[in-house]
Amino acid sequence: MSKIRVLFSFVLFGFCSTGSPWAQPGTETLLIRNITLIDGTGAEPLPNASVVIVDGRISKITVENVSPPDGATVIDGDGKYLIPGLIDSHMHLPGGRTGPGNREMIMDTEVGLKVLHGFLYAGVTAVYDSGNHDKYIYKMRSDALAGRIVSPRIYATGSLVAKKDGYACCAGATTMDGFEDGKAKLDALFANKPDMLKFTRDRRGMGPRGQDLPLIPDDDFSQLIRYANDNGVRTTIHIADEKAARLAIAAGIDALAHPVFLADASTGFAEYVAEQGVVISSTALLFGAVGRVELDNSFFDDPLFTETLTEEELQFNKVTERDRYASSGMSGWMRGVLPAVLRNLKQLHDAGAIIAMGTDRLLGPMVHMEMELLAEAGISPLDVITLSTLNGAKYIGVEEYLGSIEIGKRADIVILSKDPTINIRNSRSIERVFINGVEIDRSQLDVAINQN
Ligand SMILES: [Zn+2]
Repeated sequence: MSKIRVLFSFVLFGFCSTGSPWAQPGTETLLIRNITLIDGTGAEPLPNASVVIVDGRISKITVENVSPPDGATVIDGDGKYLIPGLIDSHMHLPGGRTGPGNREMIMDTEVGLKVLHGFLYAGVTAVYDSGNHDKYIYKMRSDALAGRIVSPRIYATGSLVAKKDGYACCAGATTMDGFEDGKAKLDALFANKPDMLKFTRDRRGMGPRGQDLPLIPDDDFSQLIRYANDNGVRTTIHIADEKAARLAIAAGIDALAHPVFLADASTGFAEYVAEQGVVISSTALLFGAVGRVELDNSFFDDPLFTETLTEEELQFNKVTERDRYASSGMSGWMRGVLPAVLRNLKQLHDAGAIIAMGTDRLLGPMVHMEMELLAEAGISPLDVITLSTLNGAKYIGVEEYLGSIEIGKRADIVILSKDPTINIRNSRSIERVFINGVEIDRSQLDVAINQN
């Protein structure tokens, strides 16, 4: 591990307009020449582009000849594709809770670090942890931020906010009764500086057997969201149906942790989401992967999985987890839900709503499966790249400095050997990964292929 380069070299008194410590400048100077630039904004790919990175920031983009700045590392991008680093807007880092059921809070940082390396290996340069053991995820976040571990940027909610005995109440969540109690609990959560606070409000719950779970009452909930907004804390929420989604949006929620998934959304819902500027994490793969694994687990044979996971880890996912999902009826239920999820995502996209790629899974390579599902929903590969980069930054609220290859932004970038705009599966052709302009040495990551 000591061989791995420290990720972030911070300038001690660096000016940082966003106030986020993640926006600090780096120290690298790079010139990437003659590459096809896919900048993450949805703009058409720009062939023969040259991109200059100074102090970890994009400083120039041109199709003219550029001479390398002093001390620059020059990369020839001929025949290759440059995209922003991928952002998973919904994941839960393993190592903070025991599974399945996730009831015990643990601090297994080694497990988490390995998973984070798998994300980097797969081209993911930032993640939003959508609910975890708060002490664990905040430790990982601060270790990543300080450069003590090699990791994607970690943004997190820490603890979820749930109703006592409500959905996801018991996996390290903060539960509350009434507004006054809730307000005091939110104050305690704000002290940890969550990047975005996540609520849950789901009466039925996941799975084949519907439940009748208590919800935070409408009025209390609306007041709590307003209270978070007044404190400058972004909010997201787990919802399952349109009614809960509409209430959350009316209350001022910034993002939804899933699209509506229990049924097709009504006509007009997608337009409403778009008008309100609410960002939605796609999470089709939660349903797609759990649904599919029972019938066909061969997606784990893809090189990104076999290069990342040991034989033992592959078997755990292909057999142990599959059997658990199959015998609980979860696989069948998820398969039933997936078509509505894909239709709802397409409708949102067509209406101009902002969808951010999110897996709600635990493994880096899965982001590429989520991207494929988005394409399968009918979204163009070029747009899928935007969903997986700039829109992820919008979900977290960090688009001012992250998510696209535009002047002034942090140079979190990935070089691909194949064109992802003609086939989204080409997003898997990862050659090089950079955060803040600093290359991640993929040969030193703690992934299976480097252990042989
Ligand atoms: Zn989740």
